[in-house]
Order: sequence, then structure tokens, then C-alpha cells
Amino acid sequence: MTTQSNSNCPLCKDSGGDLIYKANKYRVIWADEALYPGFLRVIWNDHVREFSDLSDEDQTLLMKVVVKLERFVLNDMQADKSNVATLGNVVPHLHWHVIPRFTDDAHFPAPVWGAAKQGGGLSSRQKLILTDKDMLIQRLAKLLGGN
Ligand SMILES: [Zn+2]
Repeated sequence: MTTQSNSNCPLCKDSGGDLIYKANKYRVIWADEALYPGFLRVIWNDHVREFSDLSDEDQTLLMKVVVKLERFVLNDMQADKSNVATLGNVVPHLHWHVIPRFTDDAHFPAPVWGAAKQGGGLSSRQKLILTDKDMLIQRLAKLLGGN
């Protein structure tokens, strides 16, 4: 396997958050987003810019991980909705966001990247994710490792 990296890229230099699982081609991190506990990212290990740059096989591999994370967000974090996105406008290194959304979170129903609702903070169900963080991370690592 050839390893592509870019010395100016933060996702090539650093894991990008609390590392939950590292596979040969990708890693899963627990992002530390203040208004979004449980915000997950799947980061491709190689410095690849676009999803379409991956081979068919790697696209499938990555989407299967995203689906696992989505199910985890819905079933284990008890989110009302999952939001799945890849942007890469700020850091053009392929990664997917999987975000647990709650109807009473700070932005719902808008995307998490806009301006928060007035007085928007953590909902009680989001606080539960923080309380259960260690248990959730253990469970997720097990889920991913059991592939
Ligand atoms: Zn990179």
C-alpha cells in the first residue's frame, strides 16, 4: 500500500480527535465539538481529496463504516436523526461526519454548521452522551473491531 500524506494537512499530522478505532485504511474519531457530544468522524488515512478518488472497493469499505456509525448514533446514542456529510472545504482530506441530532439541539432542524438558535445549548439527551461517553466509546470500538 502506498501512503500519501501532505505536510501542511492537520489530518495527516494528527489523529484529528479522540481516536476510537484505527484500521489500515481509515480511522474513527470522537470529535470534541462543544455543542455536539458524540459527533463522530471517519477519516481516510491517506491524504485523499475527494470521495470519488477512492477505488470502488474503498468507497464501499468507507460507506459500510459510515452506516455502522449511523446505526450507532441512532441506536446507542438514541438520536432523533443522524446527519451524514462530507465537505472538506476547510481541510481537503477525505473525512465523513456522522452527527447525532436531537430535535432540541442548538441548531435543529438546520445543519450544525450554521448559527445556533438563541440560547441554544446542550439538551438533556445530549448531556447523557457526555455522561455515558466512556461506555459509548468502548461499545463503538468493539462494534468496529468486530468487523
Ligand atoms: Zn491530509
